[in-house]
Formats: sequence, C-alpha cells, structure tokens
Amino acid sequence: MQSVPHFINGEHITQSGQLPVHNPATGEVTSMVPVPDATFVDDALRVAQEAARSWRESSLSERTNILFTLRHLLVKHASELASIITSEHGKTLSDAHGELARGLENVEYACGLTEHLKGGFTDQVAQGVDVHSFREPVGVVAAITPFNFPIMVPLWMSANALATGNVVVLKPSERDPSVSIRLAELLLEAGLPKGVFNVVHGNATTVNQLLEHPGIDAISFVGSTPVARHVYEVGTAHAKRVQALGGAKNHMVVLPDADLDIAADAAVNAGFGAAGERCMAISVVVAVGSIADELIAKITDRMDKLKVGPGDDPASDFGPVITQEHRDRIVEYVSSATKDGVDVVRDGTALAKDAGFFVGPCLLDGVRPGVKSYDDEIFGPVLGVARVRTYADAVELINANRYGNGTAIFTRDGNVARLFSRDVHVGMIGINVPIPVPVSSYSFGGWKNSLFGHSHIYGPEGFTFYSRAKVITTRWPQPSDSQIDLGFPTTR
Ligand code: NAD
Repeated sequence: MQSVPHFINGEHITQSGQLPVHNPATGEVTSMVPVPDATFVDDALRVAQEAARSWRESSLSERTNILFTLRHLLVKHASELASIITSEHGKTLSDAHGELARGLENVEYACGLTEHLKGGFTDQVAQGVDVHSFREPVGVVAAITPFNFPIMVPLWMSANALATGNVVVLKPSERDPSVSIRLAELLLEAGLPKGVFNVVHGNATTVNQLLEHPGIDAISFVGSTPVARHVYEVGTAHAKRVQALGGAKNHMVVLPDADLDIAADAAVNAGFGAAGERCMAISVVVAVGSIADELIAKITDRMDKLKVGPGDDPASDFGPVITQEHRDRIVEYVSSATKDGVDVVRDGTALAKDAGFFVGPCLLDGVRPGVKSYDDEIFGPVLGVARVRTYADAVELINANRYGNGTAIFTRDGNVARLFSRDVHVGMIGINVPIPVPVSSYSFGGWKNSLFGHSHIYGPEGFTFYSRAKVITTRWPQPSDSQIDLGFPTTR
C-alpha cells in the first residue's frame, strides 16, 4: 500500500505508513500515513530552524512575489486539488472548490504584506529623541490542522505565517493528508526556498512532540475542543504563543417575522452542507414563538429532496462522513435522542449503502440543554430544532451554551438584529446569513470553548500573531550634550 510522504527541506521523504487513509465514499483504504518517531521530528525541526535563519532575511517583495505566484498555481491546479480533497474527505467537488476559494482569499490578503507589516515612527518624543517600531517573525510555526478543511485551514495559517517571515511545519490531519503535500509542492514551484514550508505527518503523539519541542516558537491549532484545550495548555506551559480553535454548536434563531422559506433554505444549506462537517455548520435551529411547526414542515420538504452520494457525483448534495467510527457515533447520537424524548422527525441513519460512510439527513425536534444530542457537537448531518417562547429565551439559550463559534438570526427587524449582534456571547454572527465566515480582511474566531488564546486566526490578527514588535528609541547626541545624570528623566 502506498504511503503518503512527508515533505521536508523541499524533498519527499517516504516512511512506511501506519494509519489508513480511506476513500469515505467507498470505504476503501487508499493509502497509509506514517507516524514519525521523536528523532525524525527533531531532524525536521532542525531543518526548519536553519531555514528560519535565512527566510527572515528575505525581502518583502520576494515574499510578495512568491505569494502571488502561489495564488496563480492554486487557481491553475484547482480541479486537481479539489479532486484530491474529495477522494480523501468525501465532500462534493463543488464544496472542495469552495474551500479552496476561501483559502485563496487568505493568500490574496497576505499578498498585501508590505502594508500589513508597516511599522510606526514618532519624531521628537523628547528633545532629539525619536521612536520607531517594526515587527519581526516569531520563528518556526507549527500548524496543526483538522480533517474537515484540508487545504483551507492550512492556508488560513501558512499564508500569513510565511508572509511575516516565518517557517511553517504543517501537521495535517491523518485522515486526509495528501493535499497538504501538493500544497508544499506548489509552494516550492512558486519559489519558496527549501525548508520554509514542511509537512510532517502523524497523530496525537506527533502533535505532543511539537507542543513540547524547543524548536517550535508558535502554534496555530484548529480541531476539536478537548484537543484545542490540551494544545493551548501544553503549548503555553512550554512558553510558546498558541492560538487553538475548537469545536462548535451553532444556533440559528428564526423570529416570527422572518421569511420562513428563506430561513428553511438557510437551515438546510447550513445544516447539511458538507454532511454537517463544518465548524460553522448550523446544528440548532431556534424557533421563536409559534412558527416551529410551519418551519419544520418547510425544512422537511427540502430535506426530502436532498441526494446523498459520492462527492464526485455532480448530483450529490452532500457526501459521506469521514470515517466508519464517525458514522457510528452520529447514529448513536440519533438513537440517544429518541431515548431522551426528542422527536426524530427524519432519521437518515438507515441510509442503505453497500459501502462507504454515508448518513442521510436527520432532524430532531425538541432538543434542549441536558440531552446529549443538544449538548455535544455531533459534526454530522443532524439538525436539531429548539422551541423557545421569546427572543430573550433564544439569547439565553445561546449564551448558556459552552461553545461560541458562530450564530445567526433570521428576521426582517433591523433593530432586533442589531440588538442580537450585541447580546450574544459568540464570535461570528450572521444576520440573515447562516454561515457567517468572515472575509479574509477580518479575522476568524469564536468565543468560549471554541477558541483558547486571545488571538483570532488569519486577517489582521493573524499578522499580529505571527510577528512580534520591536520598539527602538533613538538619540544622536552631540558632544555638548555630555553629562552625568543618574535620575529618571523628569523633563520632557
Ligand atoms: P481533532 O481535534 O480530532 O484533530 C485535529 C488535529 O489534532 C489533527 O491534526 C490530529 O492529528 C490532532 N489530534 C487529534 N487528537 C489529538 C490528541 N489527543 N492530542 C494531540 N493532537 C491530537 O479534530 P478533527 O476531527 O480533525 O476536526 C473536526 C473538529 O475541528 C470539529 O470539532 C470542528 O468543529 C473543529 N473545527 C473547528 C474550526 C474552527 O475554526 N473553530 C474549524 C474547523 C474544524
């Protein structure tokens, strides 16, 4: 069985693979991923540290040119990249193109690095004294990424990290690792020097080696909440700067004045797109007042027309989930809902397939705090409906939830929408937009258990995270200025 190579110092390095990569649409094992030992990781990080010494000296125009060329190459190879993603992740080809498009935005944003890295200068802060500041790269960045966006999340991190002069060591998800190797090849083709972007495969053991390793200066992590918390705690205990984005449970509030057809479209698109395996997927529709029955009827009308099938079939609305174990976990959540007295309005768990990790769309009516199908992130094509009496009840439900990644409100009332955006304790909010992923000139990040660390990812906060400030105070004294004065300056 073919093993997915590492990519270190511009070379593919093949080791025998230990972990299977599947085609989720067929269930077949298509390749294996290696789990390197500590010596291998040490050697890779030595290469990264060496490359960091010269890359930090690269000119801003050299970095800009490389990023522009990368953008061109990503567009040129879009179809190839999308099909690699679909073959290992299972999402539809159009969804794979969509994630690439969002990743590209980050490369485009990073191309403006000369503007983003501009420092400041203040003349004459005291007589004959000036102050200026600039930002330097942090050093070597570990980028640890989840399975659900195998090219977008690596681009969220690496575009800005490389633009600010850092070296990247990417540890991609072991479930769909191949597209990260193609990204590394394209970066090399774009002119990035060898050793500046490296891919080290592996699992939790590998991540733990990176978290503790003195050769890593900063960690960007995206994945599930328990791992995000662990990465943050261990990384910061080893004196690294860490941003660790976690899981989600995103609520979509529908007020009685909303256009229920538009709201039902949004709930279905955002609940079932990519089989619900998006961190910004809607997982709970909060129906306010007496609209719940009508809204549910409109949602089920739409659900019943969805086609679940292989991601490379243009007729499929969504594809399989990532693994057999994950499919089983989703099935378990739906049966737990029945036991908890939640009404299973549509049950897609019986979807008959000879092979592949498919689950059909499921709708649970009456989810509420205290039941597993509400409390946990299911990360599958399972949409819950929570019924509440008032707008205030909806806000209370959202604010009591331990996650705070994204939320949305559907209404025609601009004032209530404005209040909502101020009332909820959530990082990203949509007003009549169910998946409010910020454009690349804003940063992306949730609150509460959806983000550990204070820094959001990509955009302006990404530039700040991957660089540190130096402030220089300058005086050019003349011989007549000579004096002994041990005091703290009192004059200005
Ligand atoms: P995951 O946490 O299982 O894995 C993420 C990374 O961590 C992988 O590279 C994996 O190898 C590594 N890892 C797994 N277990 C580990 C452990 N015990 N110790 C150290 N490292 C470990 O996440 P996933 O299943 O690949 O991705 C889905 C999750 O990611 C969902 O919870 C989803 O909400 C979240 N996600 C969040 C965002 C966001 O922006 N907040 C974006 C995408 C995905």
